[in-house]
Amino acid sequence: MRPDILNSYFAPITGLPGIGPKLAKPFNRLLARAEGARILDLLLHLPSSTIDRRARPTLREVVPDTVVTVEVHVDRHVPPPRGSRAPYRVYAHDETGDLILAFFKAERSWMERLLPIGETRWVSGTVSLYDGIPQMVHPDRVVDAAGLAKLPSIEPLYPLVEGLGHGHVRRAVEAALAHTADLPEWQAGAPELSFHEALRRVHQPREPLDASSAGPAWRRLAYDELLAGQIALALVRARTVKQAGRPSLGDGRVADRILGALPFALTGSQLAALEAIRADLASNDRMLRLLQGDVGSGKTVVALLAAATLIEAGRQAALMAPTEILARQHMKTIAPLAAAAGLRVALLTGREKGRARDQLLADLAGGAVDLVIGTHALFQEGVTFHDLGLAIVDEQHRFGVHQRLALASKGEAVDVLVMTATPIPRTLVLTYFGDMESSELREKPAGRKPIDTRAIPSDRIDEIVARLGTALAQGRRAYWICPLVEESENSDLAAAEARFAELTAHFGARVGLVHGKMKGAEKDAAMAAFASGETQLLVATTVVEVGVDVPEASIIVIEHAERFGLAQLHQLRGRVGRGDVASVCILLYRRPLGEVAHQRLEALRSSEDGFFLAEEDLRLRGEGDVLGTRQSGFPGFRVAQLDLHGDLLTQARAEAAEIVQNDSDLSGRRGVALRLLLHIFERDVAVKLLGAG
Ligand code: ADP
Ligand code: MG
Repeated sequence: MRPDILNSYFAPITGLPGIGPKLAKPFNRLLARAEGARILDLLLHLPSSTIDRRARPTLREVVPDTVVTVEVHVDRHVPPPRGSRAPYRVYAHDETGDLILAFFKAERSWMERLLPIGETRWVSGTVSLYDGIPQMVHPDRVVDAAGLAKLPSIEPLYPLVEGLGHGHVRRAVEAALAHTADLPEWQAGAPELSFHEALRRVHQPREPLDASSAGPAWRRLAYDELLAGQIALALVRARTVKQAGRPSLGDGRVADRILGALPFALTGSQLAALEAIRADLASNDRMLRLLQGDVGSGKTVVALLAAATLIEAGRQAALMAPTEILARQHMKTIAPLAAAAGLRVALLTGREKGRARDQLLADLAGGAVDLVIGTHALFQEGVTFHDLGLAIVDEQHRFGVHQRLALASKGEAVDVLVMTATPIPRTLVLTYFGDMESSELREKPAGRKPIDTRAIPSDRIDEIVARLGTALAQGRRAYWICPLVEESENSDLAAAEARFAELTAHFGARVGLVHGKMKGAEKDAAMAAFASGETQLLVATTVVEVGVDVPEASIIVIEHAERFGLAQLHQLRGRVGRGDVASVCILLYRRPLGEVAHQRLEALRSSEDGFFLAEEDLRLRGEGDVLGTRQSGFPGFRVAQLDLHGDLLTQARAEAAEIVQNDSDLSGRRGVALRLLLHIFERDVAVKLLGAG
C-alpha cells in the first residue's frame, strides 16, 4: 500500500493544468509509460542541458555565436518582396551599435505586434555576423521589461519526443512542482536541499550547475535513488539469508548421465562454477549466486547441472528466461540432454494455453515435472510447485529484484542462481545485485575460432552485399541486424522491412525476417527456418540479441553500428562464432564517426573478452558524457549515472547496510520516511517484503 502522502506524486499527469488527452500521448511516450505517466515520472525526467541567458551585453560587447539577451530600440520593419524567400528583417539598435532581427516566413501584422516600431524590447538568442553586421535569426525570446522580469536566466533543455517542445516540458514540470510538496526527510543529517527542493533546483536552475548531473541537487537525487536500490537489496538479502536454506545433496546420478550425453568436456571455469554452486546448494544457507559469462561461454549447461543436483535430491528446479524466444532456445538445448538423463522437463510461457497448460500446471504441482523452463509466466498466480528448490533466472538486465523474489517465493527456502550474459563490472554487480556471490565463466569453450571483426563505412554497403552473395552461395548463414531507430518501435520495424525487401530483391527466398512486433508463432517460424537453413540470411531487429543460438550462422552484419552501445554490439556479435567455421562480424557505420563511437568500434575490433569490453564500456560512457554524447543511462536507473555517481554508491551501500541492521522493519521515524523513498524509486517490492516479515 502506497502512503497517501505520495498521492500527489503518483497522480496522472493529465490532472495537471495544460495537459489534455492530446498532449498526454507524447508525454506518455517521452516518459515511457504507455499506461499513463504520473507526475513523479515528469519530475524525474531531468534536463539534458541548459541555455544560459544571463549574458546581457551591449551590442558592441556581443560575442558572436553565443546566446545573449540584449535590449534594443526597434527602428523599422523591412518585409521581403513578394514571392522572395528572403527573411523579414527588423532593424534595431542600442547606443553602441545596430542589430538586424531576421525571421523566415513571418507575417507582417504579427511582427508589428511583436516588435512595435519606436519601442524597446529585450531579445534573446544567438547573434552571428552577416556581411559584418550583427544579426539574430529567429530570437528565442522577445519580451518587454515586464516579460524580462519573468524570463528565466537559465533554461533547462530536455530529452524530447516528436510532438513535444521544451516549452511543453518546462510548463508541465512547473505545474508538477506546484502540485507536489516536500516529504518527510529520509536522508540522515540535515541535507542542504530537501528532495523537493532538489527537484526544483534541477528543473528551475539558477546557474548551469544546478541542472547538471555533477551539481549538488542532481547528486542528492542520485544518492536517493542509489540508496533506495541498496536498501531494497539489503532487505532482500536480510530476508533470504534469515530463512535458513535446506541443504540439497545430490548423488551425481543425474549429473553423470547429462555429462555422458554431452559431446564435449566442461571447461575449467564451468567446473569451478559448478563446484561453487554445489557447495552453496549443499550448505544450510540460502544460495544467492550470480553466474556471469560471456555470450556462448556455456552457462546453460552449468545451469542444467545445477538443476540436476536438486533433482537428485528429489526436488524441482525452474529456469526463467527474459523472452519467449530464449525460453524456447533453452528448451531446445536442454531437451535432448534431459531425455538422455531421464529428466522430465516442461516449457511454460504465455503461449501455453488451455488443456495443455492445465495439465502442465497439474504436473508441476504434483511433482511430475523435474525442471520447468519458462518466461515470467512462471511466477504468475496459479503456478504452484510440488517442491521448488532452485530458481535459475537468466536475467540479461531485464529482471529486477521483483522477479527474483517472486520466483523464489514459489517454494520453501528456494536457492537462487542469476545468470547474466553481459559480464558486469564489479561496481555494477554491487549496484544491481548487492552482495551476491559471483562465478565467472571467463574461458571460452574449446574449439572456438576468433571472430574477424571489421568496421566498414556504410557507403560501401554494395560491396558488402556482393560479398554476402558469395558467402550465401557457399551455403553460409548470416544475420543482418537493422539499426535502432530512436524513440519508435514502428520506425525500427519500417527500417527492417525496407532492408528485408532490398535484400530479398538480391537474394530471393533465401532471406528471412524477424522483428519484435511479430507474433510468437511467426517469430518461431522465422527462427526455425533460419536454424534449419531454409533461409540463409536473417534480417532482424535487435530481438536476436538475446541468446539465440544457431551455430551454423557465421556472418553478422550490424547496420548503423555507431548507434549501439558496446555491450550490445558485443552481445550481437556473440550470435556468430559458435560453430566450426571462422566467423565474420561487419560493423557498418555511417560517417562521420564521433570520437567515442570510433573508440567503441575499435574496442570491439580489438577484443572478444566481454569482461574487458564491459569495463571499457563504462569508461567510454564516462567520456561520452564529457563530450556531450552520453547514451541513455544504465538500465533500472533514472537519475543516477554510475560513471559520475559511483562514489555515492559506496556510501549508499554502507548506509543501507546500517539502516537495515538497525531498523530491519523500517518502522522507526526515519524508517517510515525511507519507505516513501522506496516507493518513489519503485523499489517498493522491498516494502511488501517488510509486511510479509
Ligand atoms: P551462453 O548461455 O553462456 O551464451 P550456451 O550455454 O548457450 O552459452 O553455450 C553455447 C554453446 O556452447 C552451446 O551450443 C553449448 O552446447 C556449447 N558449449 C557449452 N559448454 C561447452 C564446452 N565446455 N565445450 C564445448 N562446447 C560447449
Ligand atoms: Mg544462454
